[in-house]
Amino acid sequence: MALLEIRHISKNFGGIKAIADFSLEAEAGQIHGIIGPNGAGKTTIFNTISGVYQADSGSVVLSGEDITRLPQYKITRLGIGRTFQNIRIFRGLTIEENVLCAFDPQSKYSVFGGLIPTPKRFKEEKRGRELARKYLEVVGMADKKDERPENLSYGNQRKVEIARALMCEPKVLLLDEPAAGLTPTEVMELTDLIKRISVEFGFAILLIEHRLDLVMSISDLIHVQNFGETIAVGTADEVQHNQAVIEAYLGAEQ
Ligand code: ATP
Repeated sequence: MALLEIRHISKNFGGIKAIADFSLEAEAGQIHGIIGPNGAGKTTIFNTISGVYQADSGSVVLSGEDITRLPQYKITRLGIGRTFQNIRIFRGLTIEENVLCAFDPQSKYSVFGGLIPTPKRFKEEKRGRELARKYLEVVGMADKKDERPENLSYGNQRKVEIARALMCEPKVLLLDEPAAGLTPTEVMELTDLIKRISVEFGFAILLIEHRLDLVMSISDLIHVQNFGETIAVGTADEVQHNQAVIEAYLGAEQ
């Protein structure tokens, strides 16, 4: 059984077919690239998996559990973490606080427990800080934890966002254009980071990216979308030589 199974999902917005019959099976430790021109439906796939939108038809199954109709917070708790196309960093908070705000305490506090620092609350807060430090370490930003994010490069802001996505201790990580705005050196660092966390934590990673060099170099399988349809699925080599892909997408890049 695959860790994540997306079975024939479709999503329309009025007359627009944003996703038409999209399927994918991802095993733990695999990286799946999703590419395609603007408006091909890539982000809508992520929004449907993570519960921002409900699929019109089809289903999303995580570790054998159907999560298609669950609310976003439950999907996150079950192990789907994501980053967004636009960087979402809170400027008034430190780097560590930016990561910590994604912490989901396991203990329920009463109103009283929320106001008074009870031992249970202390314990949870400590666990949250430990997790935030662990994931800042993983992305190589531990030494900057007390800094404010406004002076960080895009590359480092992306790392903070990845650390924040890891706070839900995901099984599946959805990365939406993580290389947007990065310098070539930052793209190389990001590529190494994605590879490393995929091996270290055994996540299934779904990666939407316009930087084809990045996608081609790290994806086990690449799904090529065009106007909501999947026009090819294969290895980097296979999709690069696929005529429909060359015409619809790669051709437009040359
Ligand atoms: P990009 O590479 O530019 O981010 P994309 O492949 O991620 O594009 P989507 O953002 O998924 O594409 O959009 C797919 C189609 O669905 C587009 O035509 C878009 O305008 C439409 N769409 C997406 N979200 C909505 C919405 N909430 N309401 C109406 N139309 C939408």
